[in-house]
Amino acid sequence: MASSSTTVAGSGPGGVTTLDVAVVGAGFSGMYLLHRLRGLGFSVRVYEAGDGVGGTWFWNRYPGARVDMESQEYSYSFSEDLEDSWTWSERYSAQPELLAYLNHVADRLDLRRDIQLNTRVSAARFDETARRWIVETDSGDTISARFCIMATGCLSVIKEPDFEGCETFKGPTYHTGRWPREGVDFTGLRVGVIGTGSSAIQSIPHIAAQAKHLTIFQRTPNYSVPAHNGPLDQQALAVWKAQRAENRRKERESAGGFLSSNPNEKSALEVSEAERRAEFEARWAVGGFAMGAAFNDLVSDNRANATVAEFVAEKIRAIVKDPKTAELLTPRTYPFATKRLCVDTGYYDTFNRDNVTLIDAATTPITRITPTGLSTAAADFTFDAIVYAIGFDAMTGALSRIDIRGRGGVTLREVWAEGPKTYLGLMVAGFPNLFTVTGPGSPSVLSNMVVSIEQHVDWITDAITHLRDHQMGLMEATQAAQDAWVAHVNEVADTTLYPQANSWYLGANIPGKPRVFMPYIGGVGVYRELCDAVAAKGYEGFVLSPPA
Ligand code: NAP
Repeated sequence: MASSSTTVAGSGPGGVTTLDVAVVGAGFSGMYLLHRLRGLGFSVRVYEAGDGVGGTWFWNRYPGARVDMESQEYSYSFSEDLEDSWTWSERYSAQPELLAYLNHVADRLDLRRDIQLNTRVSAARFDETARRWIVETDSGDTISARFCIMATGCLSVIKEPDFEGCETFKGPTYHTGRWPREGVDFTGLRVGVIGTGSSAIQSIPHIAAQAKHLTIFQRTPNYSVPAHNGPLDQQALAVWKAQRAENRRKERESAGGFLSSNPNEKSALEVSEAERRAEFEARWAVGGFAMGAAFNDLVSDNRANATVAEFVAEKIRAIVKDPKTAELLTPRTYPFATKRLCVDTGYYDTFNRDNVTLIDAATTPITRITPTGLSTAAADFTFDAIVYAIGFDAMTGALSRIDIRGRGGVTLREVWAEGPKTYLGLMVAGFPNLFTVTGPGSPSVLSNMVVSIEQHVDWITDAITHLRDHQMGLMEATQAAQDAWVAHVNEVADTTLYPQANSWYLGANIPGKPRVFMPYIGGVGVYRELCDAVAAKGYEGFVLSPPA
């Protein structure tokens, strides 16, 4: 590959497929990688565990699943044709529309012929002599590739229920992250939902509307703001489209990768009580993540944060009629937005229904799942169905489930035993030519994922092209650059309130997972500049070396 512009994939001896690039995962990242690499003349194949494309939007089919960011912002920006060929129908697209969009992209860019579905990558080993990655799948494929790119997603491995007696329940159980394709009819059933994160908050109003009775087990209440979802205002969309190039540029330069948050540069503490309240009210009326950007110090100053936390608490009290339930739903143990802010449609209202009960699983923890339901420290409950909305092994889960071995056979699991360590969230020292898309150490889950994915795909594919153009075969992060980056990621996180919450950002939801703040909170605009500067300096912090 080093000197030619195109290498054709082929099967070598023993049925080994030879590629320039093996990509793992066919969600937003893997699909764009395939398009870009193919266009640059590389041989590339994508391996996907599901039987369809779409990643997150393929798996998360629970009722009410929809994006928590404005639809026109949460979509690819790299192709005018793609942008012109699709019109979103709702302000926050629902899962079926998102999946239809991703399938539309797969067809329009003719991606399917290089995507191998129903194929889970089980291992990837760096062969130091051949200087290639040997990738193995659970279907028995062996692939030899110069580069291996993990486009495996940040919330793709579910947290498995580990309650005692799980296997004894006689009725059906569902996990929000692995919802049956045919849907579930809860009509007339007694249903228990465990968890109150984003997945639960979106699905609970739908399940409550069907079930005979719904009991929700909440360990930690979440802050949630209204989505005010509805049909996308076509006039507003026309205005957006007229300024699309400019809007997309601003997204890339922004902190979060989206414009609808409309950041206010004032401190919550420098304005009067009346002005602060007016700002919060205006943003509550707009809906969505706008609330998180009402002032510039909400996630960096505890006193500023307390003002928005109290505002949301008042809203909960105003919506939820039973004061005890309202109090139970009010977060008290961590600052606003330091766990992922939820964006809901009718969540708090659902607790005014006669067929809904909220149980405090913090003071009366679930002790076991029983054949007929579950028991807490205080009572036994009978259910016809149980829904686990208990989240994911986030950011590192998908990577740690693949047996990834770099130089000297060292596993990524060993290297990350005390928490993920990367250079720029893109590469790991000791693992040459292995890239991660939106990996730990990059803005990733703290941003508009599509914007961050496009930035990573562009950067990675530019780097691979640079290697080819300069007759280089290997690229590898130095330990020193990685150490400095990890220190910087931690330092920036420590200037915020985020470490105060037991969130999945810190791995706190998975017993035994090291407590490390995984994403980079410096902002996507700043981060992009850093990555671009590294590339402009001949890939500073990386060692580039000739092919074998
Ligand atoms: P999550 O935020 O991790 O929530 C999991 C919930 O399950 C929490 O309430 C947690 O309680 C509870 N839980 C876990 N184990 C438990 C146990 N043993 N006993 C009792 N409760 C338990 O997971 P998620 O709701 O699936 O959301 C994960 C992320 O996916 C979100 O933060 C978001 O980034 C993304 N997401 C986005 C959307 C969207 O709107 N587009 C929708 C869904 C998900 P604790 O808090 O006490 O641990």
